[in-house]
Amino acid sequence: MINFSLSDEQKQMQQLARQFTRDVIVPQAAAFDRSEAFPKEIVAQVHDLGLLNAIIPESCSGLGLGMLDEVILGEEFAYGCMGIYTILMASDLGTTPIILAGTEEQKKRFLSPLLKGPNLAAFALSEPDNGSDAAAMKTRASFDGDDVILNGNKMWITNGGLADITVVFASFDPDLKHKGVLAVVVEKDAPGFSHQKIHGKMGQRASWTAELIFDNVRVPKANILGEVGEGFKIAMKTLDKTRVPVAAGSVGLARRALDESNKYASERLAFGKPINQIQSIQIKLAEMKMGIETARWQTFYAAWLVDNGMPHTEASAIAKCYASDMAFNAANEAIQVHGGYGYVNEYPVEKLLRDVKLNQIYEGTNEIQRLVIARSVIYSL
Ligand SMILES: Cc1cc2nc3c(=O)[nH]c(=O)nc-3n(C[C@H](O)[C@H](O)[C@H](O)COP(=O)(O)OP(=O)(O)OC[C@H]3O[C@@H](n4cnc5c(N)ncnc54)[C@H](O)[C@@H]3O)c2cc1C
Repeated sequence: MINFSLSDEQKQMQQLARQFTRDVIVPQAAAFDRSEAFPKEIVAQVHDLGLLNAIIPESCSGLGLGMLDEVILGEEFAYGCMGIYTILMASDLGTTPIILAGTEEQKKRFLSPLLKGPNLAAFALSEPDNGSDAAAMKTRASFDGDDVILNGNKMWITNGGLADITVVFASFDPDLKHKGVLAVVVEKDAPGFSHQKIHGKMGQRASWTAELIFDNVRVPKANILGEVGEGFKIAMKTLDKTRVPVAAGSVGLARRALDESNKYASERLAFGKPINQIQSIQIKLAEMKMGIETARWQTFYAAWLVDNGMPHTEASAIAKCYASDMAFNAANEAIQVHGGYGYVNEYPVEKLLRDVKLNQIYEGTNEIQRLVIARSVIYSL
């Protein structure tokens, strides 16, 4: 049976996030974009609403939200600011490997404390020299008694250094390639662990991005998630899930592009009439609407597969790739609808284009998503 309706709880949550976005995120987004400052107060307010780290399971005193719940919220937050949403989303990215592969003891030890305040998690896979080819990582793990010792650098890590816990992927045997990787939780104050904030991002400037440096960082073996050689598998299983919220963010951003365009087109006059009476402008609005609806249903479908424990690698790659390409086009067309005014920051649409570019790059570039989808097509023969 196919059911296209949201539950009453989901509708309430959607309303809560929509109101918060309208009242708190939208009015402040441009200022954080300009200053590159970290929106600490907003993160604290999301925590106060109970919606920060809301995927943490009930067994750890969390809300235990499912993927469909998560994408409903994600669309709303990203409508206000994709960069601010990325902070929240990256914390879920950081907790997901623990939820997927941690023991009950590890879940309680690492996840329960996160809920006590506006605390964040991070996920550290990418490196200065390897992103798409993550198995070629250079960060090394060696063993000493009951400890793991980490050395190396991670690059582009959202919430990096701010997060209370970071799931770090490191190679203990490069010859084993992806089978020689472990996933381990590193706490913020571990000696030898430091970070350097990355400045000058094109968009999503409210999100915090850092390079992480591991200089003989010693963590107990008890922090290793799953079996020692399972780290790469844990990373891939995590990304298979967390690409769905990226798709949701893209839908939210595209919805904003459409709303801004619709409003502007109803007010701006050309040749004696509002430009929304010009057919080529109407076509742009219609294309945006078609893209948003299509991407949202693919996102909901991928979320439904996740929630029902069904294979979702292909569906989440389609959702992420399609929704972010769609949102990129929507943001680009929103600028076109605004004409010259779209090109300056007096209107919010130029920020949408700068922000959405990252959705085509992180959590696996859209080229990599197309490889994943093609692989699934080819091997289905
Ligand atoms: C602001 C920001 C935040 C981020 N947050 C995080 C985070 O929290 N945690 C984390 O681990 N990472 C994070 N990343 C890293 C991100 O996931 C990587 O940038 C991304 O995976 C691409 O890796 P790369 O930059 O090394 O590009 P490369 O892998 O060097 O790719 C360069 C180009 O080559 C293409 N390419 C590479 N290999 C192939 C192939 N086999 N087939 C087709 N095309 C290919 C790519 O698609 C891309 O167009 C973040 C990045 C940014 C910019």
